[in-house]
Amino acid sequence: MPSQQRASMAEPRRACPQARVQVCVRLRPCSQGDPCIRGLNSRSLEIINWRNKKETMQYQFDTFYGDKATQHDIYTGSVQPVLRHLLEGQNASVLAYGPTGAGKTHTMLGSPEQPGMVPRALRDVLQMTREASCLPEGEEWSYSVSMSYLEIYQEKVLDLLEPSHQDLPIREDRDRNILIPGLTERELGSFGDFERYFLPASCNRTMASTRLNDRSSRSHAVLLVRVAQAQRVPPYRRRVAKLCLIDLAGSEDNRRTGNRGLQLKESSAINASLHVLSKVVDALNQGLPRVPYRDSKLTRLLQDSLGGSAHSVIIANIAPEQHFYLDTLSTLNFAAKSKQVVNRPFTQETLPAPAVRKRPSEDPAAGGEGVSPGAKRPHEDESPEAEPLSSLLPLEQLDPGLVQRLLGLEQLEKQQGGGGRRLPLLNTPRRERVALLRQLEETRSELQKLKEKQKELEAAALLDKARRPKPLQHSKAPSRPCKQAVVLPLQQVQTPLGKEAMPKGGEEILVVQKVGQVEGSGAENEAPAWELTLRPDLLARSRKNIVALLNEGSTKELRTLHRIGDKKARLIMAWRQLHGPFTQVEDLEKVEGMTAKHVASFLKANLLSSLGSLSPPAPASPRAPQ
Ligand code: ADP
Ligand code: MG
Repeated sequence: MPSQQRASMAEPRRACPQARVQVCVRLRPCSQGDPCIRGLNSRSLEIINWRNKKETMQYQFDTFYGDKATQHDIYTGSVQPVLRHLLEGQNASVLAYGPTGAGKTHTMLGSPEQPGMVPRALRDVLQMTREASCLPEGEEWSYSVSMSYLEIYQEKVLDLLEPSHQDLPIREDRDRNILIPGLTERELGSFGDFERYFLPASCNRTMASTRLNDRSSRSHAVLLVRVAQAQRVPPYRRRVAKLCLIDLAGSEDNRRTGNRGLQLKESSAINASLHVLSKVVDALNQGLPRVPYRDSKLTRLLQDSLGGSAHSVIIANIAPEQHFYLDTLSTLNFAAKSKQVVNRPFTQETLPAPAVRKRPSEDPAAGGEGVSPGAKRPHEDESPEAEPLSSLLPLEQLDPGLVQRLLGLEQLEKQQGGGGRRLPLLNTPRRERVALLRQLEETRSELQKLKEKQKELEAAALLDKARRPKPLQHSKAPSRPCKQAVVLPLQQVQTPLGKEAMPKGGEEILVVQKVGQVEGSGAENEAPAWELTLRPDLLARSRKNIVALLNEGSTKELRTLHRIGDKKARLIMAWRQLHGPFTQVEDLEKVEGMTAKHVASFLKANLLSSLGSLSPPAPASPRAPQ
């Protein structure tokens, strides 16, 4: 049995037992010749090697749908059962897998006559939320449903609702939910709304024609449906669940498809990401410490569906024709190993941010119900044991997420305690308490480390300031109104860098000088600020050197760059192989995990060292000492 890879950091209100990924196989009707698949019963099938008909292999899945199965059969048998978890605040995902032409898009989208899983699921989710709000206890909650739609095309995440060429970043929040900042989200009031947004967006999906399938999908399409619930009465809990409906691009044998040029490139990206998907499943099954989710956008996006927090269904689509034999075999093998992946879904519930929880004295509307820090309340147990932990801690100094969870736990405890008596956090189950206290301890020690680091930096900066010779030309200049950096020719400046920084060829080299705070402003004791301004030609040269190294350097050479570790170096190499050379340093933003902020600090850290020997740029030239 595979082991669960990681516990969610989210606070599970109602932890679920482990949920194995459900795997069903759907066989498409045969279009020519003798089929090489034979169904045995509602769970099993066998594949016949057409070169040697005695050679058969049998497989068993949660369900096997033969070629007569309808969209309705698949929906009610495998998809509908997971949707009910959405209203419990738990995630669900449905993923169609298989080679090109095996029926993935037919299964997920279908046609007007035979609607697929996507329209059926949307109709039901909207219906479910409507019905839930009509139930007597439903009055307590309000529901909203919204959708986003994206495709992963050549390792780029593209918005299908508001198409642009921008590659959207994939992020993970503190509760390990996968997010895509900047992705368009549309509120759905009715099924009509869904059709209005979804149908034109589907046409935006990147398609091309291959020999196997006239409208072969060249991208992985992901429909994200968000079901949010908000409690109308105190304690105003919120639940958010995500439904992920995925129509994968099919793996392709480029010899059979006749792919050339762009299609070959697309196909390589598709095959590479499906290969990573297979490696992820292997790692989960073997309980490996590292699951390579980040090696492709697809797996990064599926992180919370495979080995994560969702109730997941994989529909493996297979084609019966003999020329699909190898593709079918590999699809069945993937499906068989996916059966063993175990997820751990949980209900994610949050309480409003602590900011709204004012002290009763500040907020009469709260009626004393809020769990506000430090507020002594009537009927509160006087013993220190019974004091809520939140009232003993300096909440304003703690991480807001931590505070929110702490207050949430106390609130939960209060509800479980019944009779309106406020029970302290110390009565919460030991496991939760210990985890919370441990996290608190880690936060404190991290804070402490940061403070020490800051002190060290300040001390070093002061020392440096004291060492700096006074009679510098520019230090005599009138006080500047703000911090400013100046770059001076070395010959003009006696700097602590001394002779070592002198260029060998006698060429004029520029150094960066720091200029402190306004004299007499009382800020002299503060750490001096450094700013880097380079002469434009040197800046251009440095950038050119960096780009050359990015394009030609080995992983080892890439690691010589500041802020580039082993992982980033490998991601850069992978990006380069997939997309060709970097044209400018900012292209790094397209590399997985690199944001504009990362690239800016990377550039800052490497500008000086990448000036190299001031001779024409050489890709892996040794860097000048910092
Ligand atoms: P994929 O998305 O896997 O590349 P498609 O869904 O585009 O494959 O299916 C290829 C062709 O087979 C389409 O013309 C589709 O209508 C047809 N098809 C697939 N599955 C079925 C099915 N179960 N019943 C009837 N036709 C099907
Ligand atoms: Mg398709």
